[in-house]
Amino acid sequence: METADHSLLHGLATIVGEGQVLVDPADTASYYEDWRGRYHGRALAVLRPGTREEVAAVVARCAAAQVAIVPQGGNTGLCGGATPQGTRPEVVLSLARLNRLREIDVANATLTVEAGMTLFAVQEAAAEAGLRFALSLAAEGSAQIGGNLSTNAGGTAVLRYGNARQQVLGLEVVLPDGRIWHGLRALRKDNTGYDLKHLFIGAEGTLGIITAAVLQLQPRPKASATAWVAVADAGAAVHLLMRLRDALGERLSAFELVARVCVELVLEHLPETRDPLPGFPWYVLVEVQDSLAAGGLPELLEAALGESVTAGDALDALIAQSQAQAASFWRLREAISEAQKREGFSIKHDVSLPVSRLPEFLDRAGEAVASAFPGVRVVAFGHLGDGNLHYNLAMPRRADNAALIDATPQANRLVHDLVAALSGSISAEHGLGQLKREEIRRYKSALELELMARIKRALDPQGIMNPGKVL
Ligand code: FAD
Ligand code: ZN
Repeated sequence: METADHSLLHGLATIVGEGQVLVDPADTASYYEDWRGRYHGRALAVLRPGTREEVAAVVARCAAAQVAIVPQGGNTGLCGGATPQGTRPEVVLSLARLNRLREIDVANATLTVEAGMTLFAVQEAAAEAGLRFALSLAAEGSAQIGGNLSTNAGGTAVLRYGNARQQVLGLEVVLPDGRIWHGLRALRKDNTGYDLKHLFIGAEGTLGIITAAVLQLQPRPKASATAWVAVADAGAAVHLLMRLRDALGERLSAFELVARVCVELVLEHLPETRDPLPGFPWYVLVEVQDSLAAGGLPELLEAALGESVTAGDALDALIAQSQAQAASFWRLREAISEAQKREGFSIKHDVSLPVSRLPEFLDRAGEAVASAFPGVRVVAFGHLGDGNLHYNLAMPRRADNAALIDATPQANRLVHDLVAALSGSISAEHGLGQLKREEIRRYKSALELELMARIKRALDPQGIMNPGKVL
């Protein structure tokens, strides 16, 4: 390490404390690799500040030294956004120690939390206040709220409550020059010019560091029912969605599509799981919730599913008879990413389309990839109710998989061109990070790219915030 780097790290240690500057490879390894093991990077150090003032001082000092900063939350992102690249002097700034609950305002139904609280801890804090924080995803035990906001995360509650962006009233952000923007307003109405918080939400750490947020809460659900439903194909699933929406209205809180092959992967890699309805090509996990305790929700769901079976939209259905059974249905859905990771690498796509066009997408994409890559396994699942599919490709035999992974650009072209032709997006909820930074240039207009670049230059003229990501 050069003397300039030494003196920078020494200066940073005076801000965050000696023990919070990690340089030993044994300490830094997990910060320099992403969750899937696809991205590996290097940095001068990992810094773990404990307060927003420390974050601000670190950023100011790095800015003065022209050293770039990679913000990192729970490091569960799927696009390499939190992994340093090592192509220029960088530090990783972990938000893990900024994990305090600052305020609960029950009458206002808001929580003020620091960025490093895990999503699960935020959900727990809301529940303790008798309310609900309506963002939910399989990585919630380790993903942090700051990471959720920075990726504008989606997950399984979007159908009813919207994505992360919809849950935020205010933000506190350390800007790339080290100043703190105190935007922690707890207001549902505030039309006083540009709504700056939305610039930072979904920016993947390229415009500043979120240090705290005011989150809006929802009434706690007091009744719920969950079903595992077999369907013939995605077209039938869309009909089922329309029928349930009509019968159950806003109570419909999750509608997740799962291809048979996903269930098989989960059963193989997570031995404690069981198959509730063997032998069907597709499944839908349906959840309905009500904030009234009045009974009858399972019966309402059962009646609607009965009609769906009669009409031929559903082939069979099981309504969970206990919370444990409902949890086991959710486990099947939520373990898919983990099972796939254990199976080996895959080519991941995270696409969104108008719900009405998903069946056509699946048909046409299926034909295209099968003819380009004979024998390919399509692992398709996701948030059908939001028009969002995870469309992952792998070869069943490990020996063939490396060649498929090498053909990622070709596979992306087939899938993403079709998505574009059907007026969809090539990143529904995971973001761009490093993974889709080049890819997006084919699909966004020159004008949109220019506006994004101008916003980046306006806020971060030195380009020190998370370089090489998004733009
Ligand atoms: P990280 O991975 O640490 O960072 C993600 C990005 O945000 C990086 O660019 C990073 O630089 C930036 N960042 C992090 N914290 C801050 C901050 N405080 N200020 C500024 N920038 C910051 N995602 C979904 O949307 N829906 C899902 O259903 C879903 N399911 C998943 C299931 C599994 C099993 C896994 C492993 C991941 C899943 N994800 C899902 C992806 C991931 O969990 C989300 O993107 C999550 O929001 C990332 O949070 P994190 O704290 O881990 O962020
Ligand atoms: Zn998802």
